[in-house]
Amino acid sequence: MKVIKFGGTSLKDVAAIQNVIGILDRNLQPCIVVLSATAGTTNRFLEMIELAASGDKERAFSLNRKLEKYHLEYIRQLGMYNNSELKTEIKTLFSNVETFLTGIFCIREAIQRVCDAIVSNGELISTKIVAAYLKSQNKKCRWFDVRDIMITDNQFGSAQPDILQLQKRADQKLKPLLSDYDIIVTQGFIGMTAQGLPTTLGRGGSDYTASLIGEALEAESIEIWTDVSGVMTADPRIIESAYTQPDLSFKEAAELAYFGARVLHPSAILPAIRKHIPVLVKNTLAPNDLGTEITPESKRPSVIKAIAFRKNISIVTIESSRMLMAYGFLEKIFDVFSRYKISVDLVSTSEISVSLTIDNNVSINKAIKELQDFSTVKVNQKMAIVSLVAENIKDCPNFLCQVFQVLEGISIEMITFGASNVNLSFVTKANNLEKSVRLLHKVFFEQNEE
Ligand code: ASP
Ligand code: MG
Repeated sequence: MKVIKFGGTSLKDVAAIQNVIGILDRNLQPCIVVLSATAGTTNRFLEMIELAASGDKERAFSLNRKLEKYHLEYIRQLGMYNNSELKTEIKTLFSNVETFLTGIFCIREAIQRVCDAIVSNGELISTKIVAAYLKSQNKKCRWFDVRDIMITDNQFGSAQPDILQLQKRADQKLKPLLSDYDIIVTQGFIGMTAQGLPTTLGRGGSDYTASLIGEALEAESIEIWTDVSGVMTADPRIIESAYTQPDLSFKEAAELAYFGARVLHPSAILPAIRKHIPVLVKNTLAPNDLGTEITPESKRPSVIKAIAFRKNISIVTIESSRMLMAYGFLEKIFDVFSRYKISVDLVSTSEISVSLTIDNNVSINKAIKELQDFSTVKVNQKMAIVSLVAENIKDCPNFLCQVFQVLEGISIEMITFGASNVNLSFVTKANNLEKSVRLLHKVFFEQNEE
């Protein structure tokens, strides 16, 4: 049994849906199909929410009607305009959205739980339509409400699923369906609290859903079908010569997802890792492209696989001469960051000073005030992290020498290496980012090519 996830762009029009059908036809075993909302839908819902909260009910409603019309047109193009049951279902979901928007408009505020109640409709709508379409094409297909199994905590907007519940419920409710149906279509991204309130797992969370369901049912593999042909050596929007890596290890993929590769959600790989389930990343729009296979062990250790980067980073440098030869300095610092729930990414230390990176959008003023009780604090904004990723990176022949040679003349503000044996990361000024990535890509991926 496989879990196959399609992203929003895989559902964007009739041609894309035909590709989806072709992909499912080539699959010879029962599968669970996890879908995102159609491309752009989640963003449209978020826009409506903002409009309603700012008092512009008219525009919020009109956007909702437009999105409804778009989906009804989509149903027509798929040849299902006579399916009145489907159309009624879709209209009901959009009218529920209108009710929630009215509520937001009345109090001029959108709390996260109401946002989840609205945006989760995107996946309900797309799955209703695609399941109906597959049935109309004589597939043995069934729509399944993922909220029956995806019970989460109540951190609306980035809810955490209860893995044990998922396991239990998937066994009881989902697994038996696999003997009666070839395709089970369900929603990515959404869940429900134990009290029955709708939640979402965070933007891009459908990959995570696919991986979680794969884990719960011990799938043979998890396929992520998206709009690029796998994980590339670098972001092709910056590096035209970037190409797809045919294989990555779990560790490499997790590292890349975290450090900014757009293809996979950072949490998505974790459930697959726990059960050693291979993950395949493929392109719905070019299904014959090989894609990237992500496997438990690296097929090619100690070979640099990709360069990832993250923009909008700040370096915080904390220095305290009082801490010379004293102990507990790091504990004091991290205690402050932990109390303010600030997530720290890279760290580099010397005897009396510590540099660390955080995302720019995190507010750190209160934390800085506390740190200043025992140290001087400097914040450098407009930084970027660049990471080179490879399993067993320490054994990559000659690699440190190549990195430093190629980056000569570019000022490096901070380096971390050694902690994970999967990456070398450095921080440079944002305006050096593109140049650094270009130079590194040339050295590691554009030379010695046949
Ligand atoms: N529809 C959701 C989003 O746009 C989830 C997903 O696409 O994975 O974030
Ligand atoms: Mg997505």
